[in-house]
Amino acid sequence: LLEIHDLNKSFGDAPVLKGIDLALKKGEVICVIGSSGSGKSTLLRCLNFLEEKDSGTIRYNGEVIETTTHNVNQFRQKMGMVFQHFHLFPHMTVLGNIIEAPVHVLKRRKEDATAEALKLLERVGLREKADDYPFTLSGGQKQRVAIARALAMQPEVMLFDEPTSALDPELVGEVLAVMKDIASQGMTMVIVTHEMGFAREVADRTLYMHDGVILEEGPSKDFFANPKEPRTKAFLSKIL
Ligand code: ATP
Ligand code: MG
Repeated sequence: LLEIHDLNKSFGDAPVLKGIDLALKKGEVICVIGSSGSGKSTLLRCLNFLEEKDSGTIRYNGEVIETTTHNVNQFRQKMGMVFQHFHLFPHMTVLGNIIEAPVHVLKRRKEDATAEALKLLERVGLREKADDYPFTLSGGQKQRVAIARALAMQPEVMLFDEPTSALDPELVGEVLAVMKDIASQGMTMVIVTHEMGFAREVADRTLYMHDGVILEEGPSKDFFANPKEPRTKAFLSKIL
């Protein structure tokens, strides 16, 4: 579905991604771990063209996507993104947040978008919050709304950048449960996370980024049971 080859990205003189290769099959769930500054967020942002790469190729369904020749917005719509800090529209209700892009970007009829949004809210367990404003919600609830909002665009890939890092510990589980549900429905997902239990249980593959490269990757079970690189071992022993 998505193939990245020799992706490079620098900010000024500082190389942040150094020759990333990554292939993602439809329905695959990948977790990305690694220390602060290793380039995880930059990788996600390059994947959906929030950040422009310096070199390398990004293929989607076999087709090389270039900002110069493609309408990147169209491609970006296929990628739902969920951030650490939710980024909900504060002046809109929960329902308003979810139908905003389907109505204004996809030009869906408001009634249809609303019906779909209510189903998504049901799915993330927040049907009764439809008419409430974001400031009245807990962090976990906000993040579930953000996930529903991303799903409302009917993406083919979901990208998550530390979706539970800003949450109080007791709220992490409800968000992970929603993500697990989405994974079980066959969504293709790339998840940057520090939730090692989740990575081990839900992700098909886990990859460890260090200093702009993918230092080690493997099927999650093997990855956690038998890390090979000393740096991966050191990282895991610090975090587990
Ligand atoms: P964290 O775990 O802290 O979120 P990360 O692995 O997501 O870290 P990135 O956010 O991708 O790391 O950042 C990688 C490096 O790129 C860091 O050194 C950061 O300072 C730098 N960087 C990221 N975005 C920019 C930017 N817009 N301009 C300049 N430097 C940047
Ligand atoms: Mg980051």
